[in-house]
Amino acid sequence: MKDQYHFPLENFITKERFDRIKAFAKDKETPCLIIDLDIIRKNYEDLRKNLPFAKIFYAVKANPDDAVVSLLRDLGSNFDVATRYELDQLLRLGISPDRMSFGNTIKKEKDIAYFYEKGVRLYVTDSITDLDKLSRAAPGSKVFFRLLTEGLGADWPLSKKFGSHPDLARQLIKTAVRFGLEPYGISFHPGSQQRDVGQWSTALTTVSQLFTWARDDLKVNLKMINMGGGFPANYIEPTDSLAQYADDIKRFLDNGFKNDWPEEIIIEPGRSMAGDSGVIVSEIINIAKKSVHERYPWVFLDVGKFGGLIETLDEAIKYPIYFEGEGPAVDVILAGPTCDSMDILYEKTTYMMPESARIGDRVYILTTGAYTQSYSSIYFNGFPPLKSYILK
Ligand SMILES: *Cc1c(COP(=O)(O)O)cnc(C)c1O
Repeated sequence: MKDQYHFPLENFITKERFDRIKAFAKDKETPCLIIDLDIIRKNYEDLRKNLPFAKIFYAVKANPDDAVVSLLRDLGSNFDVATRYELDQLLRLGISPDRMSFGNTIKKEKDIAYFYEKGVRLYVTDSITDLDKLSRAAPGSKVFFRLLTEGLGADWPLSKKFGSHPDLARQLIKTAVRFGLEPYGISFHPGSQQRDVGQWSTALTTVSQLFTWARDDLKVNLKMINMGGGFPANYIEPTDSLAQYADDIKRFLDNGFKNDWPEEIIIEPGRSMAGDSGVIVSEIINIAKKSVHERYPWVFLDVGKFGGLIETLDEAIKYPIYFEGEGPAVDVILAGPTCDSMDILYEKTTYMMPESARIGDRVYILTTGAYTQSYSSIYFNGFPPLKSYILK
C-alpha cells in the first residue's frame, strides 16, 4: 500500500483494515459511509483507560447510528442527549434514562416535560429563562451550568452560542436553589477538535473558582464537572495523543482542586469516539479545468458539503483523502456534486492526487465517522442522504 503524498496512510488506518473496507465496499454504490465498530470499541476503551476517573456521556449527535449507540450501551456508556428524537431512539434501544443527560441549552418547555416524564433527571442550563422552564417541567432535577468558552485552538469552535459568563453562572446557581432545583455541577465545552489542551486549564480554573464561591457564599456543594467533548480525532492537522491530553487534564484538576476533586467528573466525547471509525467511499465524477491555463484542475466527487462533509466549511476540518493510483502527483481543487457553488471542499488547501487518477476511480475519505451522515441533507438536488453501512 502506497502512502498518499501529504500523509502516511498508516497514521490513520492499518493496511489490513483499509483493505477490508475496500473489499466490503466493492459492490456498494457510492457515496457511502462504512463504519468499523471495532474502532469505536477501541476508542471507548482508550478513553476509559486514559481518563479512568471520568464518566463517559457519548454525544449522540456525532454519530447516532443504532449500531453505534447499541455498542456504546453494551460497553456501559452514558449519553448526552440533545433532543426528544434522540431520547426516543435511546429509549427504543433499551437505554435507561438514568444514563442520560439533556445536554442542549436550547430546549422547549414541552420537551423538558417529555424528558422528565421519561425519567431523565439531569439537565444543562445557561439562562434564567431556561431555568424557569426547568423549574416547572423538571421539578427537583439536577442542573449543571454551562460556561461560555472561546473555542480558541479548536477546529470546530462551538463558542458564543452556548454557555454563560461566570457572573451569570453565579446568578443561575442562586436562582436554581430558589427554584427548588439541585445545583449539581459546572460544564463547559472547550471547542470541538480542540488542539490546544490548555483550553481545559482556562476553563477548569473558572470552574474551581465557582465551586469555591458556591460553597463559601451560598453553602451549596457542587458535585460534578462536565468537561465536554473536544478530544481529537485523526485528521490531517496533527494533535497530541489522548494520553497527553489526559496527563495535562489531571494536572489541571490537581491545580484547581488539590486532593479534593469533585465527586463526579464527566466527559462528553463525540468526535473522538466516532471520527476514526468511518471511511466515506466516493467516486470521481469529473476532472476538469475552468480555463485553458488554469493551474489546478477541479476534481468533482460524488460527495460534498451537502452529502455529509459540511465540516469542510471554511476548510475547518481537513480530512485525509486517499486516491487510487500511483506516480507523480498534481495539486487539485476538490468539490462536491451539487448545483450550489458553496459546495467546494478544498480550494485554499490543495490536495494532491496521482496524475494517473481517472474519472470513475474510487476515492476514500478517512476519519469521517463523526458529524457526516447525521449532517447530510435530504434530497438537495434529489441526492439521498448519505448511506451508511456497518463493516461486517
Ligand atoms: C457536540 C457536543 C459534544 C461533543 O463534542 P466533540 O468535540 O465532538 O467530542 C459534547 N457536549 C456537548 C454539549 C455537545 O454539544
